[in-house]
Amino acid sequence: MIDTHTHADSRSSEDFDLMYTSGIDTAITCSFYPYKLRNQTCLINHFDRILEYDTKRAEEYGLKLEVALGLHPANVSENNDQIYEEIRRLVEEKKIVAIGEIGLDDNTINEQKAFKKQLEIAEDTKSKVIIHTPRKNKKEVLKDIKIIVDETINPKLVVIDHINPNVVEDVIDYDYTLGLTVQPQKMTKEEAIKILDKYGFNKFLLNSDISNKPSDPISVPKTVRTLKKLGYKNSDIEKVAFKNAKKFFKI
Ligand SMILES: [Zn+2]
Repeated sequence: MIDTHTHADSRSSEDFDLMYTSGIDTAITCSFYPYKLRNQTCLINHFDRILEYDTKRAEEYGLKLEVALGLHPANVSENNDQIYEEIRRLVEEKKIVAIGEIGLDDNTINEQKAFKKQLEIAEDTKSKVIIHTPRKNKKEVLKDIKIIVDETINPKLVVIDHINPNVVEDVIDYDYTLGLTVQPQKMTKEEAIKILDKYGFNKFLLNSDISNKPSDPISVPKTVRTLKKLGYKNSDIEKVAFKNAKKFFKI
């Protein structure tokens, strides 16, 4: 199985062990710095830590980490040029499988500028992007995300993540790939399964978004096993368990 959106830097070795023994072979870990950033170098240190340290930490337990790095909306400052340069370098040197997670959270002008800039880098380099949608005002902010995405980047390069039953209709008819985050306080596995049942398995990725917030490191295996128990076709289950992610991220 592939968990397509995690924050491995904030999780323990015990979680990696549990994930691997529960059937997760690969997890994509995204950048997000949950503390105050004194300067841009702090964020570059965060990138280095994920690339060089967390990948090895997970590997010790059998779990392969693929890395997505980007400027999360909560980490945006007035001048982010050094970060953009670093992201472009990492994409060109093929150190990352996507730019992410990026997106809009409070939907400020600075967030919008940083979001657009990173989409431009992605379009320019034909890189995949993982786009965060916020918990608060998801429907309204998603409208702005779609406007910026549609004027900047090929939608086939895009994952719009944390899609829930309230917004799935707003994105289902586009060429985006859609992320379903099964996570305490956000979406249950039953809600995710309802979406898959209604809209089919072709467009969706599953993930846990484990972070420093309430998390379930094995929400993907739990969802996959429940699909199996409920009698869904193996060929469909495989799509959300790993096939769609493999194809999209080329991993
Ligand atoms: Zn996340």
